[in-house]
This record gives sequence, C-alpha cells and structure tokens, in this order.
Amino acid sequence: MFNALLIDKNDQDYQTRLRQLQEEDLPAGDVTVAVEYSTLNYKDALAITGKGPVVRRFPMVPGIDFAGRVEGSDHGGFKPGDRVVLNGWGVGEKHWGGLAQRARVSGDWLIPLPAGFDSRQAMAIGTAGYTAMLCVLALERQGITPDLGEVLVTGAAGGVGSVAVALLAKLGYRVIASTGRPQEGEYLRQLGAAEIIDRNELSSPGKPLASERWAGAIDTVGSHTLANVCASTRYNGAVAACGLAQGMDLPATVAPFILRGVTLVGVESVMCARERRLEAWQRLAEDLDIAKLELITREIALGEAIDTAGEILAGKIRGRLVVDVNR
Ligand code: NDP
Repeated sequence: MFNALLIDKNDQDYQTRLRQLQEEDLPAGDVTVAVEYSTLNYKDALAITGKGPVVRRFPMVPGIDFAGRVEGSDHGGFKPGDRVVLNGWGVGEKHWGGLAQRARVSGDWLIPLPAGFDSRQAMAIGTAGYTAMLCVLALERQGITPDLGEVLVTGAAGGVGSVAVALLAKLGYRVIASTGRPQEGEYLRQLGAAEIIDRNELSSPGKPLASERWAGAIDTVGSHTLANVCASTRYNGAVAACGLAQGMDLPATVAPFILRGVTLVGVESVMCARERRLEAWQRLAEDLDIAKLELITREIALGEAIDTAGEILAGKIRGRLVVDVNR
C-alpha cells in the first residue's frame, strides 16, 4: 500500500482526498518510481481544487512533477536505484502524477537527476524553476545580454518568478521585479532584484506603446500585464511569456512588434523536447545559487497539499512549495 492524493469527480462533486492505494492500481508504464519529493505548482493547485480544467481523466493522482528512485524498470535507459526527475508530459493531468509515494510512467518522460542536486533540491526547483530557466534560455536565444539593459520579471514572488529573479541576477542582469506584495520586497532583493515595482503599474489597460524601459522580460501573468510589458520593451527587445496568473487574455496591439521590433516568445514546459529539458536542467545546475533555493522553498507534507492548494490560487504563497510525499 502507498499514500497518494486522489481526485474524484462526479456530477455533484469534485473532491481530492489522501488515500491508500495498491501497486496494482498504478497505471501502465515501463518505469516504477519510489517518489521522494513532489511539488505544488499553480497547475497542481488548479487540479486539486477543481478551479481550472487541468484534469482530463478521473480518478487522478495530481502532481505534474516528481523526483525519486527507480524501483523497477523495463526501459533501457533506467535501472533500479537510478535517481530520476519528471516534469510535465501530461502527468498529473491525464496520467497519474507525483503527489503519491509511487508513480509508474513511461521511461521516455524521465531524465536523470541532474548532478549537483538531490531530490529535494530538484523539486524545490520543480516545474516552475525549470520553466524559469526555459524563459532565460529563450531570452538568450533572442540575444538579450546583460549589457543591453534591464530585464523585468512579473509575478516575481511566485514560483517561476522567484527562480527567474535568482537566475537572471546571478547571470549579471539588472533585474526589475514586479510584485503585488510589497512586503516581499526584501525577499526579492535577497534573490538579487535591483528594483521592485508595484504590479498595479502594469495590470490595467494601457497604451499601445509606452516609454521604453526594459531590454527583456519574463512574464508569468498574461492579460493586461503582458500587453503593457510588451508596450514598454525597448527596441529589438524580447519578452518570454509563460503564465496566466492575471488572465489568459492578451488585450494588446501589434505596435510593439511592428514599430519596435519586439519579439514575444512563448515558453511551454509540458511537451518541451528532451534535449531542451536536459539543457535547462544543466544550466540550472550551473546558474542557480543553491543558497537562494533554500530561501525560496517551503516544505509541506503530502496531506497538507490539499489545503495549501487554495493558498496558491489566492496568491499567498511565496516562492516554491516542496512536498515530502513520505510524511
Ligand atoms: P505562483 O502562484 O507561484 O505565482 C504566480 C504569481 O503571479 C503570484 O505569486 C503573484 O506574484 C502573481 N499574481 C497572482 N495573481 C495575480 C493577478 N491577478 N495579477 C497579477 N499578478 C498575479 O505560480 P507559478 O510561479 O508556479 O506559475 C506562474 C504562472 O506560470 C502560472 O500561470 C502557471 O500556470 C504558469 N506556468 C506555465 C508553465 C508553462 O509550461 N508555460 C509552466 C509553469 C508555470 P506577486 O505576488 O509577486 O505579484
């Protein structure tokens, strides 16, 4: 028997409970993993609460990422005892996920635990941190180097935002952090932010073009914020967009793109190609200050994940939530 969160849905009810399941209950897959740590991402919070249409099949074990040790494998790439990490691939959405003591998945979805991290650190980074690195890589591919000017991070005190601020600062960028929580200003400065702005500056309907402020931006918020971020991006700058914390809409004009040559780059972590994942994790191992990772992380037990999901959606969680599935 093993512990797992299980989401059930019928006509009247959407419920997530801590349950005991058996190995035979696990879905098909060629690698079985003893999960050590998982995390609570924004998407997991939507799945657990039912506030967003994340789960495509019921019953479902949520958890879009995990790190653990291979228990059994029919996959050529992994053997028992190997330490592995999983991000995305529809796990926790249409295939049972990581908020459980056991997971069975396709070995093609796994990557080896990157050297330099233990399982807990890998999940302190989690899908949010790996997505932050994908955003940094996207800006680099657009040629946004630290000498070109400041880089903005929106939703800065959240999971993606916190890791993005830490990464960009270590890479030598001057980071402007946009947050709705002024009380987290000191935290963001400790992560490396040079300047903090109030997210209200960006969250209301704005002009097609505003004064040029940043050379690049990582946006986790979407909606009017993303429109205003693009409108304030400097000539030939780039914006990496990965999130929708304010909204899925994009009430923008083409002006920044056709008059200032701004590039809007979409960042997607779930189906991202294996080579790019490996590159992102390799770069996290090189460019993320482990001491800052501790500052970003709060640990909870598996059973606490249900109540804590509501706090994420209310925007009350700072940084990253790691889930110890074995307590
Ligand atoms: P978090 O909940 O940790 O952070 C989101 C942050 O956004 C909050 O901390 C808050 O930051 C800000 N925020 C919340 N509500 C609003 C609002 N109404 N208006 C403006 N800002 C708001 O989530 P994550 O960091 O884990 O994820 C961020 C986004 O990225 C989510 O939308 C998530 O779905 C998406 N995502 C996408 C991925 C992809 O593959 N494309 C992968 C991972 C995440 P503050 O308090 O500092 O203002």
